Amino acid sequence: MSVEDRPHAVEAALDFEAQRTRGRIVALERDLTALQDATADSPDDEHDPEGATIAFERQQVASLLAAARSRLAELDDARARLELGDYGRCADCGQAIPLERLLARPAVRRCAGCEARAER
Ligand SMILES: [Zn+2]
Repeated sequence: MSVEDRPHAVEAALDFEAQRTRGRIVALERDLTALQDATADSPDDEHDPEGATIAFERQQVASLLAAARSRLAELDDARARLELGDYGRCADCGQAIPLERLLARPAVRRCAGCEARAER
């Protein structure tokens, strides 16, 4: 089966994933704000052991947040491609990506074969 057979299933998968990612971004932003507040009183992070731990945590959360935002951008991009009728084809070889793969990873841009080659 391909996207043309089940366009609504793919749309639902994309929306579900985007919604989940948005929720994650909100939670991470909240965590980051809390960590920033925790360090606001002690600008001397580096020399205070607790401050250093918080600074490390803040970095972790910031990088998770960046990843979640870029994931959401990928999902928005996939959504736009779906609307243009340009969704579900491998960016490398142009073959239709199997529906099961799209449902599992709706923002995916390559077929399994090309992805494996790209990672090698
Ligand atoms: Zn391919």
